[in-house]
Amino acid sequence: MTKFRAKLTLILILLIGCSMLVAGIFMAKVLESSHVNSLQENMERELHVIASSGVWDYQGTDAELIKYYTAQAHRLKDATTERLTYVRADGKVLGDSDQLPEQMDNHLIRPEIAAAAKDGIGYTTRYSDTLKENMLYAAIPVKNDAKVTMGYLRISLSLAQVDKSIRSLWYFLISGLAILFVIAGIVSYRIAKGITRPIERMTKVAQQITNLNYESRVPAYRNDEVGQLGQAINRMSESLQGQMARIQENERRLQGVMENMMSGIMMIDREERIMLLNPSAEAILGFSSQELLGKKYNEAKQQYDFTKMIQECIELQEPISDEMMFYYPAERILDIHLSPIAHEDEEWSGVLIVLHDITAVRRLERMRSEFVANVSHELKTPIAAVKGFAETLLAGALNDKETAVSFLQIIFDESERLNRLIGDILELSKIESKRIPMNFSPVYLPEFVDRSLSVLRKEAEKKHIELSMTVEDDMYIEADEDRLRQIIINLLSNGIAYTQDGGKVRLRVEPLETNADGDYERLRIIVSDTGMGIPKKDLPRIFERFYRVDKARSRSSGGTGLGLSIVKHLVEMHKGTIRVESEVGVGTKFIIELPVIH
Ligand code: ADP
Repeated sequence: MTKFRAKLTLILILLIGCSMLVAGIFMAKVLESSHVNSLQENMERELHVIASSGVWDYQGTDAELIKYYTAQAHRLKDATTERLTYVRADGKVLGDSDQLPEQMDNHLIRPEIAAAAKDGIGYTTRYSDTLKENMLYAAIPVKNDAKVTMGYLRISLSLAQVDKSIRSLWYFLISGLAILFVIAGIVSYRIAKGITRPIERMTKVAQQITNLNYESRVPAYRNDEVGQLGQAINRMSESLQGQMARIQENERRLQGVMENMMSGIMMIDREERIMLLNPSAEAILGFSSQELLGKKYNEAKQQYDFTKMIQECIELQEPISDEMMFYYPAERILDIHLSPIAHEDEEWSGVLIVLHDITAVRRLERMRSEFVANVSHELKTPIAAVKGFAETLLAGALNDKETAVSFLQIIFDESERLNRLIGDILELSKIESKRIPMNFSPVYLPEFVDRSLSVLRKEAEKKHIELSMTVEDDMYIEADEDRLRQIIINLLSNGIAYTQDGGKVRLRVEPLETNADGDYERLRIIVSDTGMGIPKKDLPRIFERFYRVDKARSRSSGGTGLGLSIVKHLVEMHKGTIRVESEVGVGTKFIIELPVIH
């Protein structure tokens, strides 16, 4: 039972009980006084009967009078069972049914006698010392024919009977009250329960709503105010449930966006604490959420200028953007946007920080400008040569035929180189921009390798270089045939170019990773030579554009410095890998691994 119900029950019991108690007391009083009233009326009637049926003018000495009236009192008492006293007009008791008149004092000052003398009738209730109990007295004057008071007649009645009936009335009342109290208790409890039970249910539902259980509902009650309150609570929790579902849905969406976006998001609240960090921000800053969330931004061990920038944004309350170099966890360039978050009513509620890792963009930009610089440089050299020799020829060298021919040969060679260079640059930019689609088809390798080799045979023979190939019969690969040829010819011509007279250049194709059926899934193409080799320090860079180990020699061999980077791109377009092994003075080996099926 709840406190409220107990209280309500108690109040109801008290209300019902008290009103019944007051009613009982009032009733008892009314009953008592009406009882006494009717007794008094009876006594008055009796007194008049006695007065009219007796002789009250008896003459004689006092002793004779006493004897006479006492005898009369005794006789009358036998008839009425009530004590009877006869008092003379001067107050002397002449006769009494219960006591000796000689022993009784003057009765004129007795209240009932005095009242009788004055009003014609007198009553008193008083404790009688003689009889040791409460007595009701009634007295009237006895008058002769001339209306002169001769004396007073008094009867008295024990109130024991009256007291007894009042007491039994009280007993009855009290036991009735006790029963009524019990009934009132039960009724009050039921009433209280009727009132409080729906309220208790509603309280429970409200508590469950507080505990995020929005499915809880108040059972349908009657249609009164309490029922309406219940319905209102139900409607409220329904609307809360709907709103909550919407909020959760929105939160999920927002969470999804935050978790999957490339930009790093960080939020700082009014207390300058970090309160949000998405996975990208964790990766960019190199700190986990656990390490940063809840920390003050200036205690979060962040780079000094970054912390400073946040502080500036908080102070100025204006958006700030800047690019910044970060050194932890790796060297990177970040594009940082800071903006104060302001709500309509509040001044500001925090700072939103958006981080972009623009290292790759910047590197690309740098590479592009470097590339342009490189290209211009590479183009300038042959153009300068062509221009220089042409000028010399114009200045008169044309007359010396032998010199003129050799100069023209140089001009031709340089323009050839220029042509090759431009061709390579165009090829590379085409490959890099991925404009040309791959054209995969099955390539029968023994025949394909043989034909590629024959293209270079003449050149090899010029340098007395032995060109050989090893490829198993019935080997196939799915590839873009033209590109695959470009790869092999590029590597073989490098081998020929960087190998001295009488050396060897070999090409070997071998299967890799055979599956359960004995079919190979990948194959390896190795182009090796017995040439000058590449120094260790240059190995990591030789696939870069325009990178040459020895500029002079490369130029004399007619190289552009773009061959290997084109090869690398083409291999990657076939989803393959390329690596190089080399030892100076011993030889170089390029190893390509390609998947057989695409
Ligand atoms: P190039 O047109 O100058 O040959 P590449 O991109 O093909 O340019 O090669 C880059 C550099 O790698 C060359 O300049 C050369 O120094 C070195 N190189 C390539 N292949 C070999 C090889 N087989 N032996 C020795 N050095 C080589």
